[in-house]
Parts: sequence; C-alpha cells; structure tokens
Amino acid sequence: MKRIALLGATGSIGRQALEIVAAHPGLELVAAASGSSPIDGLAPLTQVGGDLTDLLERAEPDVVLNAVVGFAGLPATLWALEKGVDLALANKESLVAGGDLAVSAWRRGGGRLLPVDSEHSAAFQLLDGQPADTVDSLVLTASGGPFRGRTRAELADVTALEALAHPTWSMGPKITVDSATLMNKGLELIEAHFLFDLPYERIEVVVHPTSVVHALVRFRDGASLAHLGYPDMRVPISYALTYPERAATPIGALDLAAGLILEFQAPDLEAFSCLALARAAGEAGDTAPCVLNAANEVAVSAFLEGRLPFLGIADVVERTLAQIDCVPAADLAELTAMDAEARRIAAALTRQLVH
Ligand code: NAD
Ligand code: MG
Repeated sequence: MKRIALLGATGSIGRQALEIVAAHPGLELVAAASGSSPIDGLAPLTQVGGDLTDLLERAEPDVVLNAVVGFAGLPATLWALEKGVDLALANKESLVAGGDLAVSAWRRGGGRLLPVDSEHSAAFQLLDGQPADTVDSLVLTASGGPFRGRTRAELADVTALEALAHPTWSMGPKITVDSATLMNKGLELIEAHFLFDLPYERIEVVVHPTSVVHALVRFRDGASLAHLGYPDMRVPISYALTYPERAATPIGALDLAAGLILEFQAPDLEAFSCLALARAAGEAGDTAPCVLNAANEVAVSAFLEGRLPFLGIADVVERTLAQIDCVPAADLAELTAMDAEARRIAAALTRQLVH
C-alpha cells in the first residue's frame, strides 16, 4: 500500500488525483491539504492553509503529490526532496523558483522526483534508462493556447474570460492564463532544465495545437522518440502515483484511424514574449527564475481581476527582472525574501502600468 499526501486537494489536479487514488486499491490517502476551502473528512489528516510541512511531518507519507499552485508549494517540495520521500510534482512553480535548492535537497535525500506535468512525465518516460550522452535534445510541446496565431496587436484587448477558454486542457485559472501567454511553457522549460539536468540550448519548445504529442527526445543517432496520448492529466497523475507499475486508467488508447492531426510550428516569441523572458531568466540562473515566477504570479492575479491588460503580464515580468539584482539564495529564507521583494516591485509596477 502506498500512503499518499495530497497537497492542493481541491484544485484541478487535486480532484483528478482523488479519482485516481479512489480507483486504485494500492493507493491510500493519508493526508490532504487545501489553501482555503474546507476539506474535513477528505483524509485521516487534513489541513487548510498554514505550513504544509507540519501536515507532512504528522502524515509520514510514502508519496507527496504536490498540486498546490504557485510559490506556496515550495516548502513542501523541499521537505519531500530533503527527506527522500517520493515527490509527485505538479507544482512547477516550486522547481522554477527554487530549482538550485531543490536539486541539492534531491541529491541529499536520494528519493524519486516524479513529474506530473504532462510534458515532463512524457520526457521522464522517454529518457528513462537512456545514457545522458546519447541524448541530443528534448522538445516540449505547447498547444499555443486560445490566442495562438494572433499578433501582438491582436492581444491588446483580450479579456480574462477569453484567456480562460483553453482549447485542449481544462485546468486551474493561473495555469490557464500562463498557457495563454506561453509563460507556462517558459516555466516548463526551466522545470525541464532542473528535472533532467539539460542545458537550455538543448531544450526546444514547439507549438503543437492538438496536444497529442507531449514531448519528444532526439538522440545522437538521428532517431527521435515521442510520447503520445490524449490530453488528460489523469494519465501523468496515475503514472507518478503508481510508478513503476503503470496502472490502468479509464483513458482510452489513441485511435490512430480517427484522423489525428500532428502539426508543429515555431512559437511566436514577439506576441508571446513571456516564453523568451523565461528562457532568458533560466539562462541567467541564480534567483532570476524566482523573480520571473513571483512577478508572473502577481501579474496573472491582476489580469484575472481585471487590473492589468494581457500584454501587461509580460511587461510587469520584464520590468521586475530589470529592477532586481538576482543574487543567489543560500536557503529557503533568502529565496522567500527574494520572492517577497519581487512581488512588492511587481505590484508597484502593476499599479503604475494602469495609471
Ligand atoms: P488550482 O488552482 O485548480 O488548484 C490549486 C490548489 O492549490 C487548490 O487546492 C488550492 O486550495 C491549493 N492551494 C493554493 N494555495 C495554497 C496554500 N498556500 N496552501 C495549501 N494549498 C494551497 O490549480 P491546478 O490547475 O490544479 O494546478 C496546480 C499545480 O499543478 C500548478 O502548479 C500547475 O501549474 C500545475 N499543473 C496543473 C495542470 C492542470 O491540468 N491543472 C497541469 C500541469 C501542471
Ligand atoms: Mg504542462
């Protein structure tokens, strides 16, 4: 029996994880947490808000599924990695913001880090058992979001409601906006760099509107392996929770005769500049990804609340990065201070941009 602690149990990933756990006799929910919604009775131990590592200490899980949204998930990520407890990671923001700390904790802890993000679950499966020196590059696919094909000028007046209408995935509001700006793929680029220890120049992003190919790995002999499946998060959630068993799920196998369209194109980095900003922040290293993430969180909430135009998201992120000296952070306290400073600057810039 695998004892699961589910953080972010009321969210999009959290609810799908509950379905996977309920259907699998080998998985037992021992603890659950949410940010603010009551979850009494959902698991033997529950917690709403507060320090999630307190709950993890009490629960002693075999696997932590971190499906919290945002930087708030970082202490739990570091806790699991440091203790060597298996971490099923949906909370990409924690790896983006705290990548260096997380990788060190992971090395010390020696546990498994099983990605739940669909592209990274795919890449994990493609890279499993392949010697590092045979890998040429990793390709992450992006649906392109609801505004794919629009020019920068055509993005000026788009609303939160339009941004929330994602063509292929049904997800929480923050990641749905990130998918519309392509910041989600930027965060995933940084996530992939830390998960698979690949330099940025060997990670490529391509737009693939139907979201059937989740990732592709090119090898040095000219061969490429791809991971295909219908876009349904229950597949990577189940894979991470039941690894290495690969349990059955209710999701059907691909129907190749039904007219699958596998089309790829280069992303438009001018209209969707968040992707370029993320790549630059990743390459800059130190706390630049933390600052990028914090500014993006602030800007996305402002956009969702109608306080910032769509293109203002990239503006706020770019200007915040320009105003901060992204010095390295030695520990979680220093990183949290950097996150707070970036949030303060991003909030001030948001107010300036609309006045
Ligand atoms: P969501 O907004 O639907 O859910 C977020 C969950 O986090 C909620 O349960 C909320 O209560 C909880 N939460 C927020 N702040 C918290 C705090 N301080 N303490 C405890 N819990 C807190 O978000 P989501 O779409 O489920 O995404 C969750 C994470 O998974 C994000 O990092 C996202 O990028 C990633 N992810 C999501 C999808 C998807 O399909 N939804 C796909 C890939 C990756
Ligand atoms: Mg993804």
